[in-house]
Amino acid sequence: MAAAETDREVPSALCSEFLNFSAKDTAAKWLQAIDLPKEVYQHLARYVPKIYCLGPNLNPQSEDLLAQLLLQAPLEWYLCGEEPSLGLAKLEQSNQPSQLCGHVFKVGEPTYSCRECAADPTCVLCMQCFLGSVHKEHRYRMTTSGGGGFCDCGDTEAWKKGPYCQKHEPNISDSSQEDPLANLSADMIARTYNIFSIILKYAVDMLTWDKEDELPQGLEPPERGDTYYCMLFNDEVHTYEQVIYTLQKAVNCTQKEAVSFATTVDRDGRKSVRYGDFQFCEQAKSVIVRNTSRQTKPLRVQVMHSSVVAHQCFALKALTWLGQIIRYSDALRRILCQVGLQKGPEGENSSLVDTLMLCDSKMWKGARNVYHQLFMSSLLMDLKYKKQFAIQFAKNYERLQSDYVKDDHDREFSVTDLSVQIFTVPSLARMLITEENLMTTIIRTFLDHLRHRDLQGRFQFERYTAQQAFKFRRVQSLIGDLKYVLISCPTEWTDKLREKFLEGLDAFLELLKCMQGMDPVVRQVGQHIEMEPEWEAAFTLQMKLTHIISMMQEWCASDERVLIEAYKKCLTALTHCHSGFTDGEQPITLSMCGHSVDTIRYCVSQEKVSIHLPVSRLLAGLHVLLSKSEVAYRFPEQLPLSELSPPMLIEHPLRCLVLCAQVHAGMWRRNGFSLVNQIYYYHNVKCRVEMFDKDLMMLQAGASMMDPNHFLMIVLSRFELFHIFSSADCRKRYNRESANKDVVQQNSTLIEEMLHLIIMVVGERFAPGIGQVENCDELKREIVHQLCIRPMAHSELVKALPENENKETGMERVIDSVALFKKPGVTGRGLYELRPECAKQFNLYFHHYSRADQSKAEEAQRKLKRQNGEDSALPPPVLPPFCQLFASLVNILQCDVLLGMLGAVLQWAVEPSGGHWSESMLQRVLHLIGMALLEEQQQLESSSEDNEVTFNFTLKISRPGEAPSNTPSILALLETLQNAPHLEVHKDMIRWILKMVGSIKTMRERTAAAPSPEGSGHCQEQTVRDKDKAERKRKAEMARLRREKIMAQMSEMQRHFINENKELFQQSLEELDASTSSSQEHSPSSWDSALVCVGPRRWRAGGGERRQLVTCILCQEEQEIRPDGRAMVLAAFVQRSTVMSKNRKRPPHNPESYDPLFMHPDLSFGTHTGSCGHIMHSHCWQRYFEAVQAKEQRRQQRLRVHTSYDVENGEFLCPLCECLSNTVIPLLPLTKTSCSSEQPGLSLWLNTTSQQIKALHSAQRKAKPTNAAVTSETQTVEDYPPPEGFRLDHTPVNPYSSSIKEMLTTFGTATYKVGLKVHPNEQDPRVPIMCWGSCAYTIQSIERLLVDEEKPLFGSLPCRQDDCLRSLARFGSACWSVSSLSTVQSHFIRLLSALVPDPQVENSPCIVDVDMFHLLVSLVLSYPAVHCQDSSGLSVDAAQLHLLHLVTVAHLVQILLTSVPVELTMEQESGGVEREEEESVGLLYNTLKTHLGSGLHEMSSGWHLWRCVKTGILPFLRGAALFFHHLSGVPAPPELQALGAGEWEALCTYLCLPPNLLQLYYIHKEVLEPLLQGWCSHPVMRQCLQAPKTLISYPRESNRLIELPEDYSALINQASSFTCPKSGGDKSRAPTLCLVCGTMLCSQSYCCQTELEGEDVGACTAHTFACGAGVGIFLRVRESQVLFLAGKTKGCFYAPPYLDDYGETDQGLRRGNPLHLCRERYRKIQKLWRQHSITEEIGHAQEANQTLVGIDWQHL
Ligand SMILES: [Zn+2]
Ligand SMILES: [Zn+2]
Ligand SMILES: [Zn+2]
Ligand SMILES: [Zn+2]
Ligand SMILES: [Zn+2]
Ligand SMILES: [Zn+2]
Ligand SMILES: [Zn+2]
Repeated sequence: MAAAETDREVPSALCSEFLNFSAKDTAAKWLQAIDLPKEVYQHLARYVPKIYCLGPNLNPQSEDLLAQLLLQAPLEWYLCGEEPSLGLAKLEQSNQPSQLCGHVFKVGEPTYSCRECAADPTCVLCMQCFLGSVHKEHRYRMTTSGGGGFCDCGDTEAWKKGPYCQKHEPNISDSSQEDPLANLSADMIARTYNIFSIILKYAVDMLTWDKEDELPQGLEPPERGDTYYCMLFNDEVHTYEQVIYTLQKAVNCTQKEAVSFATTVDRDGRKSVRYGDFQFCEQAKSVIVRNTSRQTKPLRVQVMHSSVVAHQCFALKALTWLGQIIRYSDALRRILCQVGLQKGPEGENSSLVDTLMLCDSKMWKGARNVYHQLFMSSLLMDLKYKKQFAIQFAKNYERLQSDYVKDDHDREFSVTDLSVQIFTVPSLARMLITEENLMTTIIRTFLDHLRHRDLQGRFQFERYTAQQAFKFRRVQSLIGDLKYVLISCPTEWTDKLREKFLEGLDAFLELLKCMQGMDPVVRQVGQHIEMEPEWEAAFTLQMKLTHIISMMQEWCASDERVLIEAYKKCLTALTHCHSGFTDGEQPITLSMCGHSVDTIRYCVSQEKVSIHLPVSRLLAGLHVLLSKSEVAYRFPEQLPLSELSPPMLIEHPLRCLVLCAQVHAGMWRRNGFSLVNQIYYYHNVKCRVEMFDKDLMMLQAGASMMDPNHFLMIVLSRFELFHIFSSADCRKRYNRESANKDVVQQNSTLIEEMLHLIIMVVGERFAPGIGQVENCDELKREIVHQLCIRPMAHSELVKALPENENKETGMERVIDSVALFKKPGVTGRGLYELRPECAKQFNLYFHHYSRADQSKAEEAQRKLKRQNGEDSALPPPVLPPFCQLFASLVNILQCDVLLGMLGAVLQWAVEPSGGHWSESMLQRVLHLIGMALLEEQQQLESSSEDNEVTFNFTLKISRPGEAPSNTPSILALLETLQNAPHLEVHKDMIRWILKMVGSIKTMRERTAAAPSPEGSGHCQEQTVRDKDKAERKRKAEMARLRREKIMAQMSEMQRHFINENKELFQQSLEELDASTSSSQEHSPSSWDSALVCVGPRRWRAGGGERRQLVTCILCQEEQEIRPDGRAMVLAAFVQRSTVMSKNRKRPPHNPESYDPLFMHPDLSFGTHTGSCGHIMHSHCWQRYFEAVQAKEQRRQQRLRVHTSYDVENGEFLCPLCECLSNTVIPLLPLTKTSCSSEQPGLSLWLNTTSQQIKALHSAQRKAKPTNAAVTSETQTVEDYPPPEGFRLDHTPVNPYSSSIKEMLTTFGTATYKVGLKVHPNEQDPRVPIMCWGSCAYTIQSIERLLVDEEKPLFGSLPCRQDDCLRSLARFGSACWSVSSLSTVQSHFIRLLSALVPDPQVENSPCIVDVDMFHLLVSLVLSYPAVHCQDSSGLSVDAAQLHLLHLVTVAHLVQILLTSVPVELTMEQESGGVEREEEESVGLLYNTLKTHLGSGLHEMSSGWHLWRCVKTGILPFLRGAALFFHHLSGVPAPPELQALGAGEWEALCTYLCLPPNLLQLYYIHKEVLEPLLQGWCSHPVMRQCLQAPKTLISYPRESNRLIELPEDYSALINQASSFTCPKSGGDKSRAPTLCLVCGTMLCSQSYCCQTELEGEDVGACTAHTFACGAGVGIFLRVRESQVLFLAGKTKGCFYAPPYLDDYGETDQGLRRGNPLHLCRERYRKIQKLWRQHSITEEIGHAQEANQTLVGIDWQHL
């Protein structure tokens, strides 16, 4: 039986008991039982403790299995009355499933919401439903679920349209109202009912059980052992580290175990950490408590009897089982709901569901999760019981919230979190408002938790204790609930709903009253405030309430009666707030310009003022709604309009606006940042809708009901400017007043701010209700003004616009009518630009501009006008007319007080000597005049014959000032100003005004038909202006001509000069060239066919070598590159690389013992060298590096900061370009080679070389002490005397200067150290090998890059790469000179033995296991060590050619053996062009087959073989061409500098190879045939060929980054099903995808930390070491962010290759727009990788952003 096979050994007695158990019999017994609950409890009491919790290490698999067999099976038998699998299948068949999807989301799973159709943003679909829905084609939003919540597919209330996906579409025949129980037999219903009640009750009892050592009645175990668990519970107070540390101490576990315990506690909410007798557990408990109680409350620990734990385990299991069973049938689900909601014996609120909810905060996380899930799949899925559950939830609401506030778990683990599932259903929400008075309950509960108030009953957050602050944070979720309730505005109202809503509004007004006037401030004079007062809590509350306040207004607006009542209530509340309004504030009378008004004496700068006025603002909002809905006109009798006192209405909003102005004027500097922040948020897009905007509206409302002169006088008085403008001689007096300079400055700013306020009061008419506009006009205007500042990306615009409660700005509906979209390139983002025709809507004094916005917009708009050839005046735009209720506001523009103020400012501007005015002031005055003129013009245009236009601004400004007599009129002042030299900038505007005045007069004349003397004045004005313009144009033209003439003269002179000094010029140009690029040593004199780069016939520069001059970037000195000169070096960066790896599974080599001589063809690890190409003297560099080192040491000691580079590891930044470097490469001149004409052929050369080798062997053996026992060896030495001219005792002279030698060692050691990850050791024989390897690997990777980028082999590389390759190749050929000669010689011997068998060398590799390019490079670069002892006239050139031929033949054979696929079915016809090649390759293939027998495929056509060979060997030839080019300096033939045909022939010619490569073999067949045989008979060969999968085939394809899906949500989905590989099926929090190999990793998490080189590192860092040799490219799926890592300490984030439709990335996935793959951007990342530029990119990112340096990248 299965139980026996499980991991845990079940005691045998038990085993037999289990074997004899029959679920069927048990169920049958139960069917007969009289007291069924007792029977079932007995069964549970007997078996549960035997299955669960039998020891310290729980084994969930076997427990589950046993529980299934012994506990669940009888329940199912009983339920079905037959074999459960049959019974359940029948149930499922007869079930008519409801249309709800109800899929419960996992953490991180993608969810979709439709921005067009969702009732609110909490309505979401699962991926499956979404793909089958209509919303796929709509504007949708994608997010990742935080877990919990379910798919709303099928809920008609959740969607305005398309509520069903294809799968959940209801059948038409279906009657959804049908009772699902109708399909079930009465018997079945009864049984289900019985068993569900017992099990649910059992589970609820156990989960809410709080005794540690006892069980409920009927469950006591028959035999009770003395076994206990020490149970540790989760809290949100202690950190992981604290818990882990404590556990290690308390229960003696390892760190690993402690981590695992802590992880489980965090996830499940509790975990047993010790098992044993009571004493044993109690002891652990006391240690834990003692250790964690020091700073905070201790961790919760309980010692529990094992049987209690066992029953609790099964209780959870039972709930899960119920959840599974009800999935079979809606009828079962309904029965379960019924059982759960049935009233218990204690009456009201005592059902099992109630019990669970009310105990929620006492349960551990795991238990809560399980029962919440069950609620979701049962109560919330059943239409009938969802309602009942909602009622119970509402009844318990207050209690649940109070429990939650005290609990310390996050909201997602609280049952209160279910509110979103209930309250967002509009019908339920409305039902709960009317039946359970939910709105009032929520608000009252909220208020109850914030009891701490000041004397006036206002909130006082400043005095909050830490605990009160904690509570405040938690009760904020109540505001969220209120929002859910209000989120859908009712379309129909019942009387009951009205009553309850208004009752809720009363409660809400209570809340707002507690906020009205909170956090008041008093201006600080003299001393700066000592402590910044608390302000954030109040603003948090305001921000959270913003949407609620808006929604309240929306609700009110939807019903006239509600609106009227709400208005009354709000007014009463405000009056209540203002009671005592005038107390202690003295009444005064103000007079000015013949008007007078009574007000109070109040100074913002001296008394208390608060920025929080929610009651006033709500009233302002409602007032505007009265106008918008026209209730104000239709039911004026029902409104308390007569009770309104306009001065009272405006008083507080005005104070608040004055406060802002005074802060701007610098009067509140001593009040610190707290106030600055408040002012900022007051205007900020998140708050302004219900703060600043409403204050302005209130001013408009008040002013519209007042005499404009009175209004302005009160404004002047509150701005504390009344004394300036009211004095009779204000025009004169002000500028003579020699007051304190600061005061003058302050007053100037205040006047500017006040004028701006007047502009806004009259000009802001874009809110529906104030002006005659639609909602979308307001939005369009916002967008236009944003885009007037500059073009913006979609997300920037969204940020600048207010979002509604659905997080929508509505921007998409109107954006196209005001803006044009410009797509992004490979970097940057898409931008919206303003449509040109919208520019005329620009208003410089737009109320939402900050001062900075304003000046930017002004500059941009003036520039635009100039570009269009218009004058640069920015006159006010034409405005929509006011609504009736606000219509009187326009009279402000022509009232006496304003005219008096305008006149005063203009007068000051005319006589600027006093300097007490500002241009901003004048600009605002001009703007106001412009507004007035536009108003008059509009009224004239729209007036009909019989309608007298009352607005006559032009008349009023033409009159002279009244007092003192004989002051000039405003118009006259303007005409004077027009010619004032100091007002150049404003002339265009003044001109515009005068022109307007003229045209209005003409209009009036036309209507009045009376000529006006002013007309000619206008005409005159016009001509003056035209003349002015003409004059300016003429001047500009003259200037242009003059410029052109000068330019022409100069270029003539230049030409002349060059002609005269032609030679000189040429020379200096060349020098310039040489010093900057240091390349182009010689250009071939003629492009003849002799461009051969290797061998005796190779091209040589005629006329000797040119001098090569370079400039040091550090000292700017020039230096010639000479072997005996001072060393010049290139900054270089050496790194390990797996970019070309064909086998990422190969384990990293052991650095100490690895022999790198032969590179495996899978290229699994290589060493890449790159350089930024900047040249320095070696001594300059050394000095620089020492300075960097010293600086870093000081810095680290002082600041403990990190840098982007690791000085201790030899890293530094290039002094010029800040490129990360870790060593330098010396620059070397070409080695001079002479060439005698006679050179031996291949066989002769091989012969000589093998003699030399034998001689070397003998010499080496002789040199060794003769401890070898073999005597015959001494003879062999004599057998092989050195060939003629080979002098073993010759020590070659090192041609290089000591500084060059030093640099040779430096670079060699660096390559060795980095490439092998070992400590530097310049004596190690592997140093030269690593250098050659790096040269070969770098060339190979560049060759691949050129192919991938589709660039020609030569001429397309940037200079820096050319320089780097040249230095690498030449360095490689020189590095033997600083190593031991015999070491390099023995390397050469071993290398050659891979091709030419040498009996003295053991373990030569098989040729299929060798990368031939590495072999070629190493052979060529090590050969000089042998050649230097030869004096017989052999040439290095000849040797290089022979080596190239040998390796090429070997590579040919290698390709034929590995890369010929099974032949294609189609026999290709050869064109006959390459017949010779095809025949010879066929012959060779056959030869190979005879040597190898069965190892090769049968017959292949010659055509086919030749194709394989040609494509297979091409990368090798291209690499060889690059290598020899840089080694010998032979120019590249033009054919290779362009793409196209002829590459093959050109390559062969350049490399001195026959185009038919097979000839290499046939010409030297007598030498090569035996070699070939040798290769084929290598012992490894046959094994290799039998397992062709492991072979590398040629050409090796370039590696790519993995394919990514087009739609980002596919990735999210993939990541959501990814589980942490270490912590047993847990969801990973930060799933991260390796873009190199496609592995998904569990990043940034304790569970997946591993130890690497003695340090704990995260999964990503660990992965990079295997996959990318330390370098990694990842995609953090949840964040939509690319992560670059290098080593343990370096990393940066990079823009992901996914863009939304607006051409923007969404890093952090905050916006949720659908994201699609941008292939160009992905290719760019791939290129960075292939170029080995990832580390460099990280370096640059870290230099640019220092915070990146501080991140613990290794933990990712
Ligand atoms: Zn679904
Ligand atoms: Zn669906
Ligand atoms: Zn839709
Ligand atoms: Zn220098
Ligand atoms: Zn550089
Ligand atoms: Zn990988
Ligand atoms: Zn993990």
